[in-house]
Amino acid sequence: MEASIEEKSKISKHISEDCVFCKIVRGEIPCHKIFEDDDFIAFLDIKPINKGHTLVVPKTHFKDLFDFPVILEEKFLNFLKKVSFAVKKAVGADGLNVAMNNGEAAGQVIFHQHTHIIPRFKDDGLKTWPDKEFSNEELVKIKAEIIKEL
Ligand code: ZN
Repeated sequence: MEASIEEKSKISKHISEDCVFCKIVRGEIPCHKIFEDDDFIAFLDIKPINKGHTLVVPKTHFKDLFDFPVILEEKFLNFLKKVSFAVKKAVGADGLNVAMNNGEAAGQVIFHQHTHIIPRFKDDGLKTWPDKEFSNEELVKIKAEIIKEL
């Protein structure tokens, strides 16, 4: 059974004392806050990829997607969409990347789950990820391995 939010919060208390996002949530570090509710806060990334680059952060310390509780998923998506629409409209973006880095190998730097809202503009010079070639046999094998884990 999944641990409750309170249990997870207790487990990660020692981590959260040094966590930069927990400090922002507690008001110990200032941020350019856009919006918050009981469970989440949205603020501008201090090293933005593009104008309006925003982070959505749960107020409880969860490490990553895999640590994130089911009970908050619907609230998270509603919060994320509300802020995403506002960011896109405010900066006149042509598109938007919503990204969550999970694990060091995926580029996660702060180990408190967070989601990037990155406004995109036509010809903004940012490249998408490169393709890799896999044979049909390899794709069939990978698909089967993933399905086995569901
Ligand atoms: Zn934290």
